[in-house]
Amino acid sequence: MVGSSLEYVDSINLSHGATKEITDPTTEAVREIEKKALAVGLKLLRSRVRHLGTEENLLIMKSIYAWLEERIEMRFKTNVIDILVEDDRIKGVILEDGTKLLADNVVIAVGREGATTLTQLCKKHKISMSNNHVDIGVRVETNDLIMEEINKHLYEGKFIYNTSVGTQVRTFCSNPSGHVVIENQNGTMLVNGHSFRDPKLGTHNTNFALLVSHKFNEPFNEPNEFAHMIGRLANRLSMGGVIVQKYGDIIKGRRTTEKRLKEGFVIPSLKEALPGDLGLVLPYNTMKSLIEMIEALNHVTPGIASEHTLFYGVETKFYSARPEVDMNFETRIKGLYMAGDGAGITRGLAQAGANGIYIARHILSEATK
Ligand SMILES: Cc1cc2nc3c(=O)[nH]c(=O)nc-3n(C[C@H](O)[C@H](O)[C@H](O)COP(=O)(O)OP(=O)(O)OC[C@H]3O[C@@H](n4cnc5c(N)ncnc54)[C@H](O)[C@@H]3O)c2cc1C
Repeated sequence: MVGSSLEYVDSINLSHGATKEITDPTTEAVREIEKKALAVGLKLLRSRVRHLGTEENLLIMKSIYAWLEERIEMRFKTNVIDILVEDDRIKGVILEDGTKLLADNVVIAVGREGATTLTQLCKKHKISMSNNHVDIGVRVETNDLIMEEINKHLYEGKFIYNTSVGTQVRTFCSNPSGHVVIENQNGTMLVNGHSFRDPKLGTHNTNFALLVSHKFNEPFNEPNEFAHMIGRLANRLSMGGVIVQKYGDIIKGRRTTEKRLKEGFVIPSLKEALPGDLGLVLPYNTMKSLIEMIEALNHVTPGIASEHTLFYGVETKFYSARPEVDMNFETRIKGLYMAGDGAGITRGLAQAGANGIYIARHILSEATK
């Protein structure tokens, strides 16, 4: 069912101008990459990738917006601050200015920026929540040439690796010819990446995230705050920004200086990053996991573990606390649904779209019963 929702989301993107290009993960070339990966304990997650690109995504969104505008009412800059509930049944929402909007069904999909509001709503209305992990790591940047095979055949090589210290590391959000960017997460400066479809707007570098999963056991239950603290430490050491370090310097246990960075073969796409020492920021297990992963990747894409490869830190993927929902994403309050990244249910555009479609279909099927 989720698969078909994803395909439906894809078909909507296509009808609003998305590229027809999609990677084929079943070719002989991909099999060869998979074989090399398996030999060193890396698992390749095969998937079809339709790369929209930052600028194409904007055009698709504009086209979807124009289509929707004639069919539904949309309100912007309109904060929902509470929900209306009677006898455990949803009745509507309350806006910041006190206006009450009545509804038989409400879907809360407030994204990561609304995760705190969502947590407050859940607490107030006694919907249980859980979260005990967070992903912490770096954004890796290297020359396109080093990543050529993976970029050409997979666009995004999704690999996972189990390290000797018991953590799991994964690659995420690969951007051939892309840019590393700063992401402001509620005042903590973190790293992210993106790429354009138009090669003229691109660089000669590929970037991707390397993320180490951190799971906490009782009694500690603030994984997001833990990651924020690490991010803020990097900010502190780089005068409010993020740190870039050459992989060779990480292995030597020394700081990357302006001079050492200039001597490197990878020209950083994020000019604002300050050359520094991520060894002073990342916990031992996190750093060890990253090193083991990059050394394993070196067997699949030789050169990725060269001294010139850049690590930017810190990159974090927060898992929003997840409200208790049933298989239709409905909470204990009848007619109240939770969806998307803010509810810790999805972690990407296509998934979030599919989540919305799934709920919409369920609401429609309930209404026609
Ligand atoms: C820099 C960056 C790069 C990314 N790149 C990719 C990528 O390449 N591929 C990919 O698949 N995903 C990417 N993502 C992730 C993707 O953007 C999210 O997974 C997706 O947008 C989640 O959708 P959502 O509907 O859950 O939340 P959102 O898209 O965040 O939408 C939530 C909306 O709710 C609104 N809102 C919040 N609180 C309230 C409130 N109280 N009342 C009313 N409205 C409220 C917000 O303003 C927002 O408009 C990227 C994210 C970032 C930050």
